Amino acid sequence: MNVGESAMAFTSKQRNLFPEGLSSFPSEYTKSSLGATSSTQSYCTAPASSTGSIISASIAIATRKRKPRYRDHGRVSTWIEGMRAASPPRVAILKTATCSGARKVLPDTQYNEWVAKHPSALATFESMMEAAKGKQMVLFLDYDGTLSPIVEDPDQAYMSEAMRAAVKEVAMNIPTAIISGRGRDKVYEFVQLAEIFYAGSHGMDIMGPAEACNGLKADGLKSKDEKGNEVVFFQPATEFLVMIDEVYKTLEHKTKNIVGAKVEHNKFCVSVHFRRVEEKNWQLLAEEVEFVIKQYPKLHVTQGRKVLEVRPTIHWDKGKAVEFLLKAFGLANPHNLLPVYIGDDQTDEDAFSVLNKEHIGYGILVSSAAKATGAAYSLKSPSEVMEFLHCLVRWRSKF
Ligand SMILES: [Mg+2]
Repeated sequence: MNVGESAMAFTSKQRNLFPEGLSSFPSEYTKSSLGATSSTQSYCTAPASSTGSIISASIAIATRKRKPRYRDHGRVSTWIEGMRAASPPRVAILKTATCSGARKVLPDTQYNEWVAKHPSALATFESMMEAAKGKQMVLFLDYDGTLSPIVEDPDQAYMSEAMRAAVKEVAMNIPTAIISGRGRDKVYEFVQLAEIFYAGSHGMDIMGPAEACNGLKADGLKSKDEKGNEVVFFQPATEFLVMIDEVYKTLEHKTKNIVGAKVEHNKFCVSVHFRRVEEKNWQLLAEEVEFVIKQYPKLHVTQGRKVLEVRPTIHWDKGKAVEFLLKAFGLANPHNLLPVYIGDDQTDEDAFSVLNKEHIGYGILVSSAAKATGAAYSLKSPSEVMEFLHCLVRWRSKF
């Protein structure tokens, strides 16, 4: 069965079945537990999107080149430094490791020292899987930089057919979820597999099959797709939808004159991409984000690889999404559980932290350069991720 014939392909109509409302699922994920206050709703009418503010912002863009808008550039400077840190010099590389353990000695001393602390998940695959015997493995995957290459235009971050086949195959053997900062619909457009869970907007918009592989059922609000297949969903930040839409429109307007800037609406969060912006204009773009976000105290900014992301200030991130999905699958006993999380981004560190805190599973960072991480293991590139998925399928077929 090819992608188009997937038994439960979500059409655009079906994927938009749940634009509103979630109040009762599951009980432990209440508004208070998510950190949203009773006053949150009032910010849906925050003043930043008025026509007047947009016009004045355009004037400000024209004048700010001579005089900085802010006295305190601390946060903007931190963001810019983060952008530069996300552009490490390319490592002279590197032959691909395999799960048989073969691996070339690399010429980059710093990277070698880092890999000694965060071993290749391919080179150490057999020993990693020793701990997995008899346990329920659940696989969590980031998308950009993990299943697809990092590209200049985020709309062009396609995954290869080979990667799609690898994800599909592993999902037929191991319950699999993709957790991304992007909107869920966008991730689905890229991946196009109905067998897996999609957690868009950093896990604030979760949807997937009511029954994953191996008969594993997910507990959640249920509905039907147009083919009658049962799906479950969870949206912990629905009340922020109006505010996020407002911020998206304001940011898009304010940044339209910055060449290369791209503002992406991810439903429950907004991404501002710096990748195609000349470095000399990074400060200007970061200032625009800072200016807008200061008007929304219920939103905050996180930083990824050459991207700033505006998100609701609720106690929810990729780590919380991992915890939620494990509970939804009824996998509360850590002794029988082995979650594996693969990601390349700073926002994936929240998921690594959850695994470390619970002393369960494996965090795997995708990186070809040494960087600080809570992940115990590493892979160099999406192509090594694909090889790792193949290894998982071969390993799983033995049991
Ligand atoms: Mg990523």
